[in-house]
Amino acid sequence: MAEKSDHYGIIIVGAGPAGFTAAIYAARGGVRTCLFGGIAPGGQLLQTTEIENFPGFSEPVAGPDLMTAMLKQARRLGTEVLTDDASAVDFSVRPFSVSASSGRKYTADAVIIATGARAKWLGLPSEQKYIGKGVSGCATCDGFFYRGREVCVIGGGDSAVEDALFLTKFAGKVYLVHRRGQLRANFRLQDKLRNNRKVEIIYDSVLDEVLGETKASGAKIRNIKTGETRILPTPGIFIAVGHTPATEIFRGKLNLDDSGYIAADDSTRTSVCGVFAAGDVMDRYYKQAVVAAGSGCKAALEALQHLEEIKSGE
Ligand code: NAP
Repeated sequence: MAEKSDHYGIIIVGAGPAGFTAAIYAARGGVRTCLFGGIAPGGQLLQTTEIENFPGFSEPVAGPDLMTAMLKQARRLGTEVLTDDASAVDFSVRPFSVSASSGRKYTADAVIIATGARAKWLGLPSEQKYIGKGVSGCATCDGFFYRGREVCVIGGGDSAVEDALFLTKFAGKVYLVHRRGQLRANFRLQDKLRNNRKVEIIYDSVLDEVLGETKASGAKIRNIKTGETRILPTPGIFIAVGHTPATEIFRGKLNLDDSGYIAADDSTRTSVCGVFAAGDVMDRYYKQAVVAAGSGCKAALEALQHLEEIKSGE
């Protein structure tokens, strides 16, 4: 049995917009709440230099500043933010338990999972060097900065094609570079892409190197069939090769979909009653901070309702 001090009404795992919003609502709901934030609470937005599409900021806000504000807001309202990672969970008995990597075990009557998803990268050293300096994993976030310029998108799935189409609103030209001779994206999107005069599709090709000085200035690509290389004059390089949801510790504990995302309904309920999921960890489609924040709110309201039901013995 955990010590009383380690028992919470609601435990939230994850410290991005979904986790912090859930924490704000849970704490304001009058429930003892703790949030596992890891060593650097803030999630993916810690790597974003400027955010222009989060409502409430007339000027761009730096990702770390936005996340620090959310952290302070959650704390002010009473959430205990642990600078520890969750390393294991047990949802088979109640109260649920969440173990920290420090070895300490915490219990709760409801758990909200908001661990997010990581954009996949290609793993090239030059790509890593220019992340945030021309290399981006989010066209919606960064496309605006390339008005009138040339950009390229790497990938051939729905996300890559949607990103390429989105980028044609700003960029003078968009190259879509795909490693095979056929796109994976759905046919409707493929049609739109082919009919867009700003787009050049480059098949059977891979990104070998991001070129640049202090910022990216171009992309060296290679045709894998001919070995021919080509330099694209693109200061914007968008990597859209999929995402990996952070669900390792939930495998076997909750239902996940084929891609490893937590299976949850519109009300954020997972396959275990009392466990909710919010944000990118259950959203394979939108992956936007404001959507994640909204689903964090939903999850907290559902978790509070669940605690009420426990109390009234329903
Ligand atoms: P995805 O379907 O997994 O596609 C990833 C793409 O990246 C594939 O074309 C893949 O190539 C390529 N790729 C993967 N690793 C690579 C590497 N190391 N180097 C070069 N290319 C690499 O991911 P997604 O496009 O993000 O879509 C994820 C899910 O969300 C899908 O189910 C999709 O249908 C859905 N989605 C739907 C919409 C929509 O309906 N409008 C929009 C966005 C996403 P290969 O093709 O060769 O494997």
